[in-house]
Amino acid sequence: MVERTLGIVKPDGIRRGLIGEVLRRIEGAGLKIVALKMRQLTAGEAEGFYYVHKEKPFFKDLVNFMTSGPVVLFVLEGENAIERYRQLMGATDPKKAEKGTIRGDLAESIQCNTVHGSDGPETAKFEISYFFSQTEIITR
Ligand code: GDP
Repeated sequence: MVERTLGIVKPDGIRRGLIGEVLRRIEGAGLKIVALKMRQLTAGEAEGFYYVHKEKPFFKDLVNFMTSGPVVLFVLEGENAIERYRQLMGATDPKKAEKGTIRGDLAESIQCNTVHGSDGPETAKFEISYFFSQTEIITR
């Protein structure tokens, strides 16, 4: 099934000049970028995006990190795109992520893990509409 998923290059990835490297890996894997923009998130936007984690001990740190610099937001499209992009990203903790994955090769820590990707169809729907209006997503 053709799916869409929401991805982010997180502030650590931008600080280290990894936007191109992340997008190159995504395109190399055959996933289509159908929307793309750079934003500085407000605390409110980051809290709303990660609301499922609001009771977690790391929530405040996560919001501080996600607002510590700009992020690059994008929508990917492709057959089974949600799972394929999760595979490409690797495990949340870079110590556990396989070599050859974005996090395994590039991430700094469990928090500063370079990229985000939706973890399922419902999440993808919520996350895409959280950051993109319909007219910003290009059918191609
Ligand atoms: P993901 O779907 O792989 O991004 O992982 P989660 O949904 O579990 O967590 C969301 C984000 O919170 C992760 O990508 C990390 O940036 C951060 N995070 C997750 N677990 C921890 C943790 O134990 N400590 C800290 N500081 N951050 C975490």
